[in-house]
Amino acid sequence: MRILVTGGAGFLGSHLIDRLMTAGHEVICLDNFYTGNKRNIQQWLDNHNFELIRHDITEPIRLEVDQIYHLACPASPVHYQYNPVKTVKTNVMGTLNMLGLAKRVKARFFLASTSEVYGDPDVHPQSEEYRGNVNPIGLRACYDEGKRIAETLAFDYYRQNKVDIRVVRIFNTYGPRMLENDGRVVSNFIVQALQGKPLTVYGDGSQTRSFCYASDLIEGFIRLMNSDYVGPVNIGNPGEYTILQLAEAVRDMINPNAEIIHEPLPSDDPRRRRPDITKAKTLLDWEPTVPLAEGLKLTVEDFRKRMGNAPI
Ligand code: NAD
Ligand code: UDP
Repeated sequence: MRILVTGGAGFLGSHLIDRLMTAGHEVICLDNFYTGNKRNIQQWLDNHNFELIRHDITEPIRLEVDQIYHLACPASPVHYQYNPVKTVKTNVMGTLNMLGLAKRVKARFFLASTSEVYGDPDVHPQSEEYRGNVNPIGLRACYDEGKRIAETLAFDYYRQNKVDIRVVRIFNTYGPRMLENDGRVVSNFIVQALQGKPLTVYGDGSQTRSFCYASDLIEGFIRLMNSDYVGPVNIGNPGEYTILQLAEAVRDMINPNAEIIHEPLPSDDPRRRRPDITKAKTLLDWEPTVPLAEGLKLTVEDFRKRMGNAPI
């Protein structure tokens, strides 16, 4: 098949491209390189099944493809809050353009949505039926509300134009290739510990997240895309940790003498988050296989290589 991956030079997009290229598909990677990097897709640049297009999805584009994995959107709060109006445009106009493309060429369309549609959840764990608790005017709204309208657009194109959609709600995912300046918690803690700097826990560190390793997530993507179920489906690892526990785990793995310091908690920071993955288990026969300790080890190895750090 000929498959378009928007945001393909980013963290998750590049792992997805690895899987699709290895399976023998033709892949078109479309990216504006805001948080993506050519290094992530370097290994495919000379492959005749691979094409790279520098393009911003807020502008329309005409391509002929069979499937679209739509991932383009900065995912780290630091990056999506840098230019919030652009984040809204990417989610609204960008998703509209990609759905328009899917409609024109009758391609199956996969939307990378997020657990952020649940906001600061008052139901725990979060199942797909939960409608969320999002602040529409807060600092995270450009992303949370952006993804909520992206889901709305996907379902309206499905009902109105019969576009064949799949919607995944991704919970916090980590792994090799996260940028050193990504700003999300796993990469921040690893980079800080490797540089011998204090690990910055925001607030008292009692807020929780559930961390999924990238290869597990991508397996879930492929299964959903190739199933008959439209979604939305939660894909994430139900293992739930406080941010302080994560800081301690990273510290103990890299540098037991590293200091842990506390910084102010950003506004609207969700108190807790954990996926109910019953749907993924029953409909896709999917569940995560990489425990946090193992995934962290692999991620730390990748950062060490890129940062040229000798083991501390
Ligand atoms: P990332 O920031 O590494 O990748 C996003 C990619 O999209 C980058 O390559 C970036 O350059 C590109 N991009 C951004 N705006 C664009 C635009 N207007 N036009 C073209 N390209 C653009 O993030 P990621 O972690 O790989 O996330 C990928 C997708 O998965 C995003 O849609 C994100 O919302 C979603 N998601 C990720 C997580 C996670 O934990 N990693 C969690 C929930 C949802
Ligand atoms: N966080 C932290 N220190 C950091 C970066 C993040 O304590 O250096 C916290 C952040 O406040 C949040 C959690 O870690 O409670 C996860 O943050 P991240 O930005 O990775 O993802 P999200 O908040 O979007 O789930």
